[in-house]
Amino acid sequence: MPEAQHSTQTAALLKLIPTLQRRTHALASTNYQRELLASLPQPRFAERLAAAGLPALRAGQVEVLQLNVGKRCNQTCRHCHVDAGPERREVMGDEVFEACLDLLQRSRIPTVDITGGAPELHPRFRELVVRARALGRKVMDRCNLTITQLPNYADLPEFLAAHQVEVVASLPFYAAQATDAQRGEGVFAQSIAALRRFNEVGYGIEGSGLVLNLVTNPSGAFLPGNQTSLEREWKAQLRRRYGVEFNQLYALTNMPISRFLEFLLASGNLDGYLERLVNAFNPATVDGLMCRYTLSVGWDGRLYDCDFNQMLDLALPQTIAEVEVEHLDQRLIQVDQHCFGCTAGTGSSCGGATT
Ligand code: SF4
Ligand code: SF4
Repeated sequence: MPEAQHSTQTAALLKLIPTLQRRTHALASTNYQRELLASLPQPRFAERLAAAGLPALRAGQVEVLQLNVGKRCNQTCRHCHVDAGPERREVMGDEVFEACLDLLQRSRIPTVDITGGAPELHPRFRELVVRARALGRKVMDRCNLTITQLPNYADLPEFLAAHQVEVVASLPFYAAQATDAQRGEGVFAQSIAALRRFNEVGYGIEGSGLVLNLVTNPSGAFLPGNQTSLEREWKAQLRRRYGVEFNQLYALTNMPISRFLEFLLASGNLDGYLERLVNAFNPATVDGLMCRYTLSVGWDGRLYDCDFNQMLDLALPQTIAEVEVEHLDQRLIQVDQHCFGCTAGTGSSCGGATT
């Protein structure tokens, strides 16, 4: 399907809001986002670590290569930390794509985590999966579910199953109203249809070996509930209401950046939300922070400690083309006020709670 037609069709389907970039909103500037957070009265993240008797954050061995293959997405969720949407044009080019695979080949990083935007929109997404699997790596796809409802992507569940890809799928809530309010009208119904398709090919079904994990995040300026009890509740509700099965639920904290930052500002919740995160600072979350074992690669080949630092342009000095992964061990992680989002309560990472 031609790109313009694809964008128009998905926009009509999901009633999209324009990205910050499209609206030339002040928050489209990453400097402005960081300055805004730093202007609030809360203590600095680095000081809070020190006050808890913790050293500055340093990375360990890279265990996950997280590839952000582009900012294009068929949705424009209100909480998106990427400011992704159908009109975004940032897509990983061939040179960076090959450099990522080259790095994998000459390293022992066991896991490749593919994200975006909607990563499946990348023209070489399937090739990336096939080649990373051929190198013997575990592959994860961060899937927004609705992508599988588009005509050219209907066979994604079969493709992912054939290559034993772990699916991490976002679904804010197990009911339509809260999900659609956050992700766009009609998203919930499409997400349930997608989950049923994943179940049909074996995803989330005991004994199949095909892992389907769900990601939830709060709909407002509050922290997520207890992940274990939420998972129990979600499993019961999704099974009873829709006959849907899944493996684990990851409860993520909304990061005070990008479009969620816009929501916080517009609703007068910014100061209160940051205060809530700071007050919930939990030193026990620090060991499991994803920046300690992840290397995040941007669409243009720049490297970051995590996907959030990527969205705030906090880059490492090296690029994917020149990096030797073992030289990254013990690097100092770049922290700022948004990091309070990862250390609040039971912690938050791409794999859910960290404690
Ligand atoms: S949150 Fe995910 S699905 Fe929603 S707009 Fe951002 S990248 Fe797309
Ligand atoms: S945002 Fe979280 S994962 Fe990223 S550097 Fe800060 S603490 Fe680490």
